Amino acid sequence: MIVVLKANPDPEQLENLTTWLTGQGITIHSSLGVNNLVLGLVGDTSVIDMDLVKSLDIVEDVKRIREPYKNANRKFHPDDMIVDVGGVKIGGGHFVIIAGPCSIETEAQMKEVALGVRDGGAALLRGGAFKPRTSPYAFQGLGGNGIDLLIKAKKASGLPVVTEIMEIGQLKYFEEVDMIQVGARNMQNFQLLKELGRVDRPILLKRGMANTIDELLMSAEYIMAGGNESVVLCERGIRTFETSTRNTLDISAIPVLKKKTHLPVIVDPSHAAGMAELVKPLALAATAAGADGLMIEVHNDPQHALCDGAQSLTPERFAEVAKAIFALRPFAMESAEMSQ
Ligand code: PEP
Ligand code: MN
Repeated sequence: MIVVLKANPDPEQLENLTTWLTGQGITIHSSLGVNNLVLGLVGDTSVIDMDLVKSLDIVEDVKRIREPYKNANRKFHPDDMIVDVGGVKIGGGHFVIIAGPCSIETEAQMKEVALGVRDGGAALLRGGAFKPRTSPYAFQGLGGNGIDLLIKAKKASGLPVVTEIMEIGQLKYFEEVDMIQVGARNMQNFQLLKELGRVDRPILLKRGMANTIDELLMSAEYIMAGGNESVVLCERGIRTFETSTRNTLDISAIPVLKKKTHLPVIVDPSHAAGMAELVKPLALAATAAGADGLMIEVHNDPQHALCDGAQSLTPERFAEVAKAIFALRPFAMESAEMSQ
């Protein structure tokens, strides 16, 4: 980090600033420019509040030369991270499709979908038991009972399972869950992220609908700083002025993230599109752009789904889409290598 001081800084304020910085373990290299004194800060500057330094009377400008995230930063971890989810690897060339319904509804529904997506090419099964719904009157999920049904489907299909947590008190239901999802609405629930940092289970962290790529990485950093390094990032569409789709899929987030971080990056075309017919083109685009996997909503009876039926594929349609994705994968790997 570089701090450019105004001309003729007040010596007492300068002394206060340098004492405060060195007290935080920072070494200061000062150099005198033509008009201004420049302080080069060396050490863990991620602990320094850049805006606070900028607001000081004697400070002209502050520039970060290194990102404020270390654990999630590819500069410190050049090799791709491979995350193991119940024996299924994601990242570092391992491409995975996660599929299943938005919400867990019944034992029969989960079993039918689980076997359908497994035979269609999914390696992990999803299903929501704790649902963050916009309306308090909408179906909120089956909670702990839903997770029991998910585990039954896991046993019937052999697929490891992913489901969303909304608050840490729910963790007691997650004993047999292989991957814990943090949804878009909780991406910046920092208390939850800190607590998941102490959990020995991979985390699927979805991008908030109005959050930047760097904010997503800072949220991953919260989990990793607590000791849990197994984080998979998920682009799921962001809010823009466009209303033709539920969200706007930020395809460029894939290569941008892959450059900034060694963590695997997957894409959820279902929540991005909001419409089943758009899932295939978005899934193909994400695959071509170098995603490490996809998360696709699948329901055995989309018309009667309790949540997100409009964007859900039937198991048959899912199998067709998965086939097209796997056919594209070898070419996608080649183009991802070429762009690095
Ligand atoms: C989900 O995956 O079920 C979900 C609620 O997605 P998001 O958090 O991305 O809206
Ligand atoms: Mn959904």
